[in-house]
Formats: sequence, structure tokens, C-alpha cells
Amino acid sequence: MKKTVITVAVALTVGLGTTFGGVAIKTEAESISSLKGEQSKIHDKRSNLKEDINQANGQINSLKNQQAGVQSEMKRIDFAIEDTTTKINDKTEKVKDTKAEVTKLQAETKVIKERINKRNVLLKDRARSYQENGGMVNYLDVLIGSTSFNDFIDRANAVATIVQADQDIIKQHEADKNELAMKQAKVEKDLSNLQKMLADLKNMNQQLSAQKKEKDKLLASLKDKEEEVHEGMMDMQEEEQILAGQEAAIQKAIQMEKEAQARAAAEAKRNTSSNSSNSGSNNNSAPRSDATPNVSSGYWTQPTTGYRSSGFGGRGDGNHYGVDIANGTKVPIVAAADGVVIRSYYSSSYGNCIFVSHSINGKVYTTIYAHMTARYVGGGATVKKGQKIGLMGNTGASRGQHLHFELHKGPWTPDKRYAINPVGIVPLP
Ligand SMILES: [Zn+2]
Repeated sequence: MKKTVITVAVALTVGLGTTFGGVAIKTEAESISSLKGEQSKIHDKRSNLKEDINQANGQINSLKNQQAGVQSEMKRIDFAIEDTTTKINDKTEKVKDTKAEVTKLQAETKVIKERINKRNVLLKDRARSYQENGGMVNYLDVLIGSTSFNDFIDRANAVATIVQADQDIIKQHEADKNELAMKQAKVEKDLSNLQKMLADLKNMNQQLSAQKKEKDKLLASLKDKEEEVHEGMMDMQEEEQILAGQEAAIQKAIQMEKEAQARAAAEAKRNTSSNSSNSGSNNNSAPRSDATPNVSSGYWTQPTTGYRSSGFGGRGDGNHYGVDIANGTKVPIVAAADGVVIRSYYSSSYGNCIFVSHSINGKVYTTIYAHMTARYVGGGATVKKGQKIGLMGNTGASRGQHLHFELHKGPWTPDKRYAINPVGIVPLP
């Protein structure tokens, strides 16, 4: 641990630029008091957490209630869909039965029509034979041919019966035909009513499905919002530990700065006596044993590779305090600048995450690397710009493998008031 402290002390010295001469030393003394100011601010903040937590909890509860409301509405819609579906099946069955009845009636009508046609043919034949035989002559012949009065009465009755029978049969057929036509009309009306009902039900079902789709969308957006709030939410103990780690990290930075200052002062004294100038010699004095090839010059380097899947600030209606960088493979995550690890732990919201404190010209910056699949450095460790600290993952409140990267111009605070858009400051894909 001591060895790394020295390395970082040198790195910090390099980061601060000129490190000798009275003016530079004065700047460093100012940077120490600036760091001390940050430290005391954090110390104050540690005792003022409860309100932020309650607010976030309230938000999550409200979103959960909204979700429960939507879910119960969806249950109601599901029930209605089930109900109309049952009705549709029922009506479809009835339509089928009614159509069968129509077919049956049509067949019956056909039979009766055929019977009437046959009868008509028969009657026409008979009428023709009347005409051929001189109309009623046949009947008269029958009557004249009677042998007695009784016989005449019998014959007259017989003739009347035959005529009556012919007429009755035709009447009966006509009545049957009319009855069937009425039946058929009624059944056809039933059928058209059923078909209308069926169409209405199908229409209703479509509307219900559309409503369900809308609710699905609403639910998804509520879940997204909850994920956002949840991502930024921690329990009090977790926040307290981060703040404590942050205080310690800044304390470490102050100590390193003091050491660098003492060393620079001693060197300046030596240089003044020998009157030699070795300006810039310190700039190359910190070889990075673990430097990666693509580390940018300047204070910041790209924390990982991939594509930007979400930007800072707007995501739905919620606040997104970082930038998301997604990648299909578990690519390395590197420290965006030299610094001290505040915390390295598993969070229910951030998943595997690392908080790093950076001090750049006495100004505190904080970076956060969340949802990782693996972490390679622990709390209190010093890290170099570009040093591998973990692997991209999908842990915690995350939907899909990505790095959630936050930059705070200042210390990390539970309300994230110092979070800034890293675009334009930290190189990003
Ligand atoms: Zn994110």
C-alpha cells in the first residue's frame, strides 16, 4: 500500500504541473486548503442524509403504487377480454347452429315446393282432362249414371269430396309454404342479429387489446422510471460508507499533496543553490507500469469502449446522472483519471461499482463506474489513468450490459448535485 501511495504522490505532482519555485508551492498550499474545504463539506453532508433517502423512497413507493394501479387495471382488462372471448365463442357456436337451421329450413322448403309443383302438375292434368271431356261432364256422367236416388246422393257427395279434397290439399300446401317462409325469415333475422352481435364483440375485443397494449407501454415506462430512481438510490448505510470513503480518499490526497510539496520544496532549494534549471524534468518521471496503449494525454481518458446507449440528463421523464456505454462483450473498464478509490462494492442499485476520487489542481472530481461484472481494485487503492479496474456487466438495477459512468465536479453527494455531463471533458465513445 505504501508503495502505491508514493507512485500516486508522484503522479499527482505531475498532474499539478509545475512543482517548484515559490509561486508553485503557494498554489499547492491553496490546493490543500481547497481539498480541506471539500472534506469538511463532505463531513457535514454525512450528517444530513435522511431527507434525500426519504424522498427517493417516496418516489419509488409512488411509482410502485402507480404500477400496482396499472397492473390491476390490466387484470380488469384481461378479465373483460376473457369474458368477451367466451361470448364470441358462444355466439360463433350459435351462428353455426342458426346457419344449420337455415339450411335445414331451406331443404324443407325445397321439399314442400317440389310437393306443390307435383300437385300442381297433377291438378293441371286433371283440369286438362276436364276440358278434354267437356269440363264438368265427367262429374255429370257420374251423377247421371246413378241407379237410384241414394246412389245419386252418394255419387254427388263423392264428387264434392273430390273437389274439396283437391282444394284442401292446395290450401294445406300453401299454408305449409307460408309457415316455412315465415320460419325462415325469422331464423334469417336471428342470424343477422347474431352476426351483428359477434361483430360488436370482436370490435370490443380489439378495443380491449389496444387498451391492454397501452397499459403495457405505461407499465414499461413506469418500470423504467423506477429503475432510474432506484439506480440513484441507496440506503443510508451505503451512502454513509461512500461519504466516509470519500473523506478518507480526500485525506489521502491531502497527505500525498503535502509530501509532494515537501519534496518539491527540497528540490527547489537544491536547484536554486546550483542555479540549474531542470524545468519539465518531472513531467516524464512517472512511468506507468500498467499503462494501456490507448490512454489519452491530459487528465482524462476514455473509461471503456462501446457505443453510447443513453446520454446525460434526459431519459424519459426522470433524471439520468451519467452516460451509458454499451458493449456486447465484457470489455475492460479503466479509471478515467488518476485517483483514489473511495469505494468498491456491490450495490443493489449500481451492481458492482467503483467510486473514484480525483483531485485536479486541488479541485475534487468524482467518477462512478456501475453495473460491472468484475471489480479489480478495492477501497482506498490508488489508481492510474487508464488502469483496468473492472469488466463491463449487467449487475444491479440494469437492463442490458453497459457501463453507467458518472462524473461529478466535486464530491459525490446523495442528491448528486455536482453530477455533470462528461461529454467534452472525458473522452467517450
Ligand atoms: Zn446509466
